Amino acid sequence: RAKQNGRNGFSFFDEAMDYRMHRHVSLEQNLRDALNHDDQFHLCFQPVFDCHSLQPVSLEVLIRWQNSQGEWVSPAEFIPVAEDSGLIVELGRRQLNYLFQRLESWKDGPLDGLRISINISTVQLARDQIAENLLRRLRWSHIPTNRLTVEITETSLMTDNQQLRDNLTMLHQHGISLSIDDFGTGHSSLSYISQLQASQLKIDRSFINGIGQGSSDEAVIQATLALAHQLGIQVVAEGVETEQQLAFLRQQGTDLLQGYLLAKPMFEPQLLEFIAAQRDIENATIRFQANSS
Ligand code: C2E
Ligand code: MG
Ligand code: MG
Ligand code: MG
Repeated sequence: RAKQNGRNGFSFFDEAMDYRMHRHVSLEQNLRDALNHDDQFHLCFQPVFDCHSLQPVSLEVLIRWQNSQGEWVSPAEFIPVAEDSGLIVELGRRQLNYLFQRLESWKDGPLDGLRISINISTVQLARDQIAENLLRRLRWSHIPTNRLTVEITETSLMTDNQQLRDNLTMLHQHGISLSIDDFGTGHSSLSYISQLQASQLKIDRSFINGIGQGSSDEAVIQATLALAHQLGIQVVAEGVETEQQLAFLRQQGTDLLQGYLLAKPMFEPQLLEFIAAQRDIENATIRFQANSS
């Protein structure tokens, strides 16, 4: 009987593996194909808010893929495939092309004052002349380097090579900020992160989820805030979904907030509406304060 169960378990596992392998291969083919077209990738933007004023201060750029069958494929699924296959280099170039088109069209408009954060894979940082490329694009578009933050995930920091280091150094030397994404999911220490000259870290959503749940997550958040601030590193909380989480994070002195409670990732038309509505609230508040004093 034990043998039979084992066999069943094994064959189930086999099928799951098979399915994943198949999905991976077909995703890679679809992705390769998609990169030959120009209309399957889109950018959306999720605002990041100042913890005190609750005003939007920056936008995180998130890529979206609608494949030829019209399905939206999550970046959580296709970015790892793009990294494994090396397609991430082409995808990353594409992402920058789209982004700089948008940034140029935003000149002197309502989005011009917001900082921009982009996610860059360390696979790309380890293979491509990405820093040089970015700096050239910024120069051409007359966008100040200090408007830009590059986010890299904490777990990906394990892949360490010279090209990666050179890219990070060059970004830092030219005033582009570095942010460590999904902090807490890897094993890097804050001292390593401060050696990398990161100016920001984003506490992973899984910890924010634990607020008010009687877990150790609150203690981890508090300790991270204390240490990060001592090292002069700014802290963002990502994945804020409830008022309770918001209250806790504000009370603990988090610097910046991001999450569905405040704003979801949006395509540009919706983003413009959102920012206009925020400005209306802001102006109404200022008028109110002026009238009441
Ligand atoms: P990330 O950089 O950590 O981005 C945060 C992810 O959490 C985004 O998922 C966002 O839509 C989602 N999110 C934001 N607020 C909430 C919330 O309150 N609750 C929940 N449940 N989720 C929230 P998304 O857009 O699916 O991206 C997943 C990951 O894919 C990103 O994680 C990033 O690592 C990667 N990625 C996205 N766009 C790019 C890109 O252009 N280039 C590269 N290299 N990676 C990208
Ligand atoms: Mg990110
Ligand atoms: Mg993250
Ligand atoms: Mg993430």
